[in-house]
Amino acid sequence: ATPTALLTGTGRGAQLGILIKGPQILESTRRVDTVVLDKTGTLTTGRPVLTEVVTAGALPEDAALKAAASVESGSEHPVARAIVEGAAARGVEPSPITDFTNLPGQGARAAIKGVPVTVGKANLFDEVPQVLRDALDAGTGTTVLVGWEGIARAAITVADTPRPSSAAAVARLRELGLTPYLLTGDNAHTARAVARKVGIEEANVDAGVLPQDKYAHVRALQQRGRVVAMVGDGVNDAAALAQADLGMAMGSGTDVAAESADIVLMRSDVDAVADAIGLSRQTLRIIK
Ligand code: ADP
Ligand code: MG
Repeated sequence: ATPTALLTGTGRGAQLGILIKGPQILESTRRVDTVVLDKTGTLTTGRPVLTEVVTAGALPEDAALKAAASVESGSEHPVARAIVEGAAARGVEPSPITDFTNLPGQGARAAIKGVPVTVGKANLFDEVPQVLRDALDAGTGTTVLVGWEGIARAAITVADTPRPSSAAAVARLRELGLTPYLLTGDNAHTARAVARKVGIEEANVDAGVLPQDKYAHVRALQQRGRVVAMVGDGVNDAAALAQADLGMAMGSGTDVAAESADIVLMRSDVDAVADAIGLSRQTLRIIK
């Protein structure tokens, strides 16, 4: 491989909005046979909108939403942004918070007037009333709980939709001979619904994966002989991006994801993934 030809490939990449961190990376894309795609912010727009609030007992919906939006005003997570924006659209403004804590892959916690309030997955609560369990099982989107004193008080659903280009892009990956997987921290129900819409088979969906376990899923595929490209956008994807044979970060994502990746996709859609792999293969054909 002549360095000049490889650099020409990286130059063409820049024109397509694909930032390749070094000519040597083009070579590592050659053997890739598996593409692991993060869901939120990668296959989907990552901009979910608030769709439903269900409360337990006599708690008014707006009071539940106010508590959740207050906690989430401290978070950058797409679910948090949807709750804050959805509340604002209903005229519900957040209260001041103290002691904000991010619970990666699970939720967030903060104190309102000194009372710790939690927003996130069911396992963060000691008690989840049946009406809220039913809301969690409805599977119409990503449903998180809000509560205090260990008791979940309301279920808030936000729905995120696949990017319009995702299904065609997944089909292109298959045409390139690659097997697509979906890897997400979100629940199985939502993950399968997105997988179905973009054309990834249920057997290749790994849901409910904690951020620190995402890289282990990539490694497990590698141990089965797969050469893995990982595509992600979040802080929660950084270790998996580093573990993958080829890490690709969405340009719209977090800095830490971009830092951990070999390739940054300035055009934030999965179609750019197919472009990047196609480009690398073309460049390598030219130089052989
Ligand atoms: P993904 O892998 O799809 O990018 P994450 O690992 O960031 O998703 O989050 C997984 C799940 O954890 C979310 O679907 C949500 O249920 C919950 N979660 C994470 N952060 C928050 C938050 N700030 N507020 C509420 N729920 C959260
Ligand atoms: Mg993500």
